[in-house]
Amino acid sequence: MTAQILDGKRIAGEIREDVAKAVAVFVADGAPAPCLAAVLVGEDPASQVYVRNKSRACEKAGIQGRTHRLPADAGQDELMSLVEELNTDANVNGILVQLPLPTDAAVKYDEREILDAIDPLKDVDAFSPVNVGLLMQGRPRFLPCTPHGIVQLLSRSNLSIAGKNVCVVGRSDIVGKPMAMMLAQKTGSCGPEFANATVTIAHSRTTDLAAVCRDADCLIAAVGQPEMITGDMIKPGAIVIDVGINRVGEKLVGDVAFDEAKEIASAITPVPGGVGPLTIAMLLHNTLAAAKLQSGR
Ligand code: NDP
Repeated sequence: MTAQILDGKRIAGEIREDVAKAVAVFVADGAPAPCLAAVLVGEDPASQVYVRNKSRACEKAGIQGRTHRLPADAGQDELMSLVEELNTDANVNGILVQLPLPTDAAVKYDEREILDAIDPLKDVDAFSPVNVGLLMQGRPRFLPCTPHGIVQLLSRSNLSIAGKNVCVVGRSDIVGKPMAMMLAQKTGSCGPEFANATVTIAHSRTTDLAAVCRDADCLIAAVGQPEMITGDMIKPGAIVIDVGINRVGEKLVGDVAFDEAKEIASAITPVPGGVGPLTIAMLLHNTLAAAKLQSGR
């Protein structure tokens, strides 16, 4: 079997067009263009690229993309003050603090304190405890961008997961945990066929990871270990979603050994061009949603 390659770039393009049209309607209705403020601390090259890409994507969708830069050694208090300033700035609808915060600077950052300080109504990454709690209870305000992108990808590819065994490898607050929670709900942004899964969460202490993965009709890898999911860990015909972005030399590779996996799976996301583009598309979606919420329109 050779798997269907799930073209995240194309699907993200469709979502971005939908958002751009919805932004145009919102603005034509008399509202100001939505505004996303990204905060970039330090000079990490990957973070700079991510923030630049997000800002460009905003502009293309008719969303104002602002970038606030702080030096790596700005410190917790200065970063907290900036977040407070953005919280009270009525022109800013969404706030994004690019992670990771510097760890090699002389000053230490308390990431959780910073994320907790973001106004939950402007929390377009959906990291705040209030938004995580609402998601957990099945009444989300914002959906976290990467997991939401994956649900959109499944839905727009007609790959229902209701009643299926889904294994999420990785339990981070950004990807693994919210992904598992969204798929275990009774319904979601794309309806009950793209929820209602029987979900297993695997992690570094899982005993016999290969066997747990092989039981999955849909395997979602969000680990950060290059090509660690090998062909023998995949159930024949499974859907494989690779969230990983790992730089190996000059190449970007996922968490899944793609060449082996595509011969066993029925559908698979490539890296790059799979999940990554969807994350940005859903950030634009959330920024418009935040602007609508704040304007009451
Ligand atoms: P984290 O490092 O926060 O979490 C990794 C998870 O993988 C942890 O739960 C860890 O387990 C688990 N893990 C690590 N090693 C193993 C192992 N050998 N076996 C089983 N589980 C293991 O990563 P993120 O969730 O933030 O990111 C994961 C990957 O996704 C990265 O490559 C990242 O770059 C990428 N990413 C891609 C995005 C996109 O837009 N495509 C967006 C966000 C992330 P434990 O909890 O036990 O330590």
